[in-house]
Amino acid sequence: MAKSIPHKRRETVASFVSRTAAAYHVDAATFSADRETSFLAVISGASTALEALDAFSCPIPEDVVAWSPSKEGGAGKMRLFRGHTFPSRILQPPKMRGCPKCLLQDLEGQREDPVTMAMRGHWLVPHVTICLEHNTPLVTLWRESSPAPRFDSAAKLASLVPAIVAGELSLEPRAETSFDT
Ligand SMILES: [Zn+2]
Repeated sequence: MAKSIPHKRRETVASFVSRTAAAYHVDAATFSADRETSFLAVISGASTALEALDAFSCPIPEDVVAWSPSKEGGAGKMRLFRGHTFPSRILQPPKMRGCPKCLLQDLEGQREDPVTMAMRGHWLVPHVTICLEHNTPLVTLWRESSPAPRFDSAAKLASLVPAIVAGELSLEPRAETSFDT
């Protein structure tokens, strides 16, 4: 029986696959390999990876694809994201950033089930430094040099639940700058 989890607004394919894998109690690399693709292909937004997942009853919602960088349409190591082209290393530095308040909201009413926490596509863009919904700066959630474990966010976020619930990751609200809007 295939498990389908509700996606979050602006969630990335990597986050969605990581959370689906966690619902099966496996890591994203194993989950992807079992479906005849690789998590690195998923991270790159390769259409072959999305098709492989779809063939194994893990269709990726349209909104998730729309908020994920894709190698399709970007030559070589370039990625197309929201109509802009970025070098992949710009969108994939060793650190992962996010809004702790968005993550806390994901957890609310879910008995603190870490699988409910999702990484959003706009958090990948370096010049996005603030969450406009909460008016708080994005923070570095974890650092990891290897892409597959770095983007397997469900496991990383699970270990951050106590800090997220305690509000220990949040920075003080600050005014928006002209780069944020
Ligand atoms: Zn937020």
